[in-house]
Amino acid sequence: MIDCHIHISLDGVDFKKARELSKTEEIGKIIRKKFKEYKKMGIYVLRDGGDDGEISSIARKIAKEEKIIFKSPVKAVYKEGRYGKFLGSSVRDVDDFKNLFDYLKSQKLDHLKIVLSGLVDFNKYTDNIDIFFNKKELEYIVNISKYNGIPVMAHVNSSYGIDMAIECGVDTIEHGYFIKEREIYKMAEKNIIWVPTLSPLGNLIKGDNKFKNCSNVIDRVYKEHLDSVGLGYSLGVKIALGSDSGCYKVRHVQGTFDEVNHLIKSGIKKEDVINMAIENGIKACNLNSDEIKYVYQNNKRCL
Ligand SMILES: [Zn+2]
Repeated sequence: MIDCHIHISLDGVDFKKARELSKTEEIGKIIRKKFKEYKKMGIYVLRDGGDDGEISSIARKIAKEEKIIFKSPVKAVYKEGRYGKFLGSSVRDVDDFKNLFDYLKSQKLDHLKIVLSGLVDFNKYTDNIDIFFNKKELEYIVNISKYNGIPVMAHVNSSYGIDMAIECGVDTIEHGYFIKEREIYKMAEKNIIWVPTLSPLGNLIKGDNKFKNCSNVIDRVYKEHLDSVGLGYSLGVKIALGSDSGCYKVRHVQGTFDEVNHLIKSGIKKEDVINMAIENGIKACNLNSDEIKYVYQNNKRCL
């Protein structure tokens, strides 16, 4: 199994506590334990969405020892003053981005994670979500990354933002809440991989104290997203499994299986979910031939 969207620095339970722990010596042990659990459950490939403390780079070293394929962005890139502080480093403009990209290259990023938009608002239903980079900036960022052979993972919600990401040629759309039919067709046409991350909302609809006043909005957005994923699948969009594990209420390892169940709820058969998680996961994680061989070897062992 492949999980294309996790945050190894977080634990899905207590954001503050996990952030504190990630600054201590303990973090290596914690990550190693998580990797052993992932492996025990047949999950051998993980792609990280980033953190500002570069824990995902430390995790990549431990992963190698634990025979887990772990892909790290080193740090996500976000726009100064906007959402994304805990995910990486901010840039003011494209010149700033160039400097940051040189640093990320020196740290051997596996993919570029760009925070293009804000989050889903749980307090009121609105698909009007801020977009932090303009088209020219995003085009520049994607082009530099591609020129250097680095795939682009775009965190984006809203129809407008998703359309911009598709037009600029990102490799994967992460989340993609409030997507419309037009973008679903475009993704299918352009072979862009969609990682819809259903678990962060899906795991809240079972009832959660922290968000009990927002349950109507969460239910509605989650159900709409399920319908979009179902439509995307029927139209041939390449959907990959990404749980957003580490995010509130999405625990590592269990989150991957939660995501399988949410994808099944969107109308995809279980065996198709597993197959597409592997096939599209291989592409999303940009695995090389040896890594692909390793995935199939382990997959056979699981069957
Ligand atoms: Zn994430």
